[in-house]
Amino acid sequence: MTAALQTYGLGKRYGRRWALSDCTLRIPAGRVVGLIGPNGAGKTTLLKLAAGQLAPTVGGIEVLGHRPATGPAQLSRVSFVAQHTPTYPDLSVAEHLRMGAGLNPRWDAGLARERIGRIGLDPGQRAGKLSGGQRAQLALVMAVAKRPELLLLDEPVAALDPLARREFLQGLVEATAEQELSVVLSSHVIADLERICDYLVVLVGSQVRLAGDVEELLATHHRLIGPPGDL
Ligand code: ATP
Repeated sequence: MTAALQTYGLGKRYGRRWALSDCTLRIPAGRVVGLIGPNGAGKTTLLKLAAGQLAPTVGGIEVLGHRPATGPAQLSRVSFVAQHTPTYPDLSVAEHLRMGAGLNPRWDAGLARERIGRIGLDPGQRAGKLSGGQRAQLALVMAVAKRPELLLLDEPVAALDPLARREFLQGLVEATAEQELSVVLSSHVIADLERICDYLVVLVGSQVRLAGDVEELLATHHRLIGPPGDL
C-alpha cells in the first residue's frame, strides 16, 4: 500500500542549524497522524517539506508515492493548512468558496456548502468579521473541499479557545469519516492529538524520537512522563 508520507534520511538545514535531521519515517495512508514536539522541534519544517514548500538539504521524501508538488496533479492531491493560513478579510464566506472552486479542479461545491451550513457560517459574512474559531473552520472547509488525498495541518488549534478547539477537531473527525483522507496535524498538546489521532510521530530537537500507533506510544508516554498535557 502506498504510504501517505515516506522519508529517507531527510534533513533541512538553515545556515548551520539543522531544523530537521536524519528523519526516516513511513506513515501509512488512511491514518490521522499527530506530529508532536516542543517549539523548534521541526514540525513545521517537516510539514512544509511534505507540502513541497521547502526543498530538502539531504535525503528523500515521497508524498502519496511521488516527490512533493511536482506538478498541478500532485499539488491538487495535497492540502496544506499553514499555521497562519490566510482567509481574506474583505471577502465573504461565499466568495471564499467561489475562489476555491475557481482554483481547484477537484473542488466539491456541494461538500463545501454542506459543511458551511453545518458549522453555521453565514455565506454573506465577511471573513474579517468571523471569530478565530470560525476562520479556522472556514480554512478547514476550503482545505477538504479540494478533495485532497492528504491533508497537512500545522498547529491548527494552537490559537483557539477550548470550545473552538473542540469544534475544529470535531470537524476534522467528520471530514475523515466522510472522505478517504490521510491527515497529518501538528500540535504541542498531546491531549488534542490523543483525542483524534491513531498514529503519532514525536519530534524532539529536530529528530524523530518515536513513531507508531497511538495506544502504544501513549502507554509509554504516560509511564515515562505522566498524564496527558503540554509537551
Ligand atoms: P513551533 O512549535 O515553534 O512552530 P516547530 O516544531 O514547528 O516549532 P520549526 O518551525 O520547524 O519547528 O523550526 C525548527 C528549527 O528551525 C527552529 O530552531 C527554528 O528556529 C529553525 N527555523 C525554522 N525556519 C527557519 C528559517 N526560515 N530560517 C532559519 N531558521 C529557521
